Amino acid sequence: MFQASIFTLYPDMFPGPLGASLSGDALARGVWALETRNIREHGQGRHRAVDDTPAGGGPGMVIRADILAASLDAGILEGDTRPRLLMSPRGRPLTQARVRDLAAGPGVVVVCGRFEGVDERVIEGRGLEEVSIGDYVLSGGEIAAMVLLDACVRLLPGVMGKLASGSEESFENGLLEYPHYTRPREWEGRAIPEILLSGDHAKIEKWRRAEAERLTRERRPDLLG
Ligand code: SAH
Repeated sequence: MFQASIFTLYPDMFPGPLGASLSGDALARGVWALETRNIREHGQGRHRAVDDTPAGGGPGMVIRADILAASLDAGILEGDTRPRLLMSPRGRPLTQARVRDLAAGPGVVVVCGRFEGVDERVIEGRGLEEVSIGDYVLSGGEIAAMVLLDACVRLLPGVMGKLASGSEESFENGLLEYPHYTRPREWEGRAIPEILLSGDHAKIEKWRRAEAERLTRERRPDLLG
């Protein structure tokens, strides 16, 4: 079973949207498991403080290395082979290929940053791999972790049936997906492309391939390399 362990200051945010729809059904059916660990349990003093001011000055607060490490050490058993990820705008951008790799493995340990982020030494000391969900800055890693989990869970066996296993989805073959249509046949004067109603599967496949290439060229020429 795919096991997700989330280290966060806001465990109440989970499962959040992951508790609904496909991922929620899969969670209820035991296709995957979700565990949250509150980093604050290892905080210091009466207020269970987890952060402190940045060395060298500057705005904001930084999550302390010793406190995050204590939380990780208490929450991860020896011999746990799951990748340890830290959601971070500085990380390698998440791709569908990486999602596929993660979904094929035993699960993930995900650390959610807050404030300015976490002390660099815990990233090194606990071998955390920084992963970004895009070139913008969120207020915390929780929503980023949910994005990563949602992408993984839909690929688990029995979650989406044959839908997600298809090779035609966006990014799976290095292209964006072709456009979709469904009934009614005509809507506000716009007709479904004739070829899709022809029943000629070879032609349909060729048209879809051409459309996927056109969209990718127009919108994401970077994918074509
Ligand atoms: N000062 C940091 C940003 C901190 S944002 C910097 O400039 O790099 C607070 C937390 O939100 C981060 O620690 C991280 O866990 C999360 N986060 C923000 N943007 C993210 C992104 N694009 N991808 C993944 N996690 C992100």
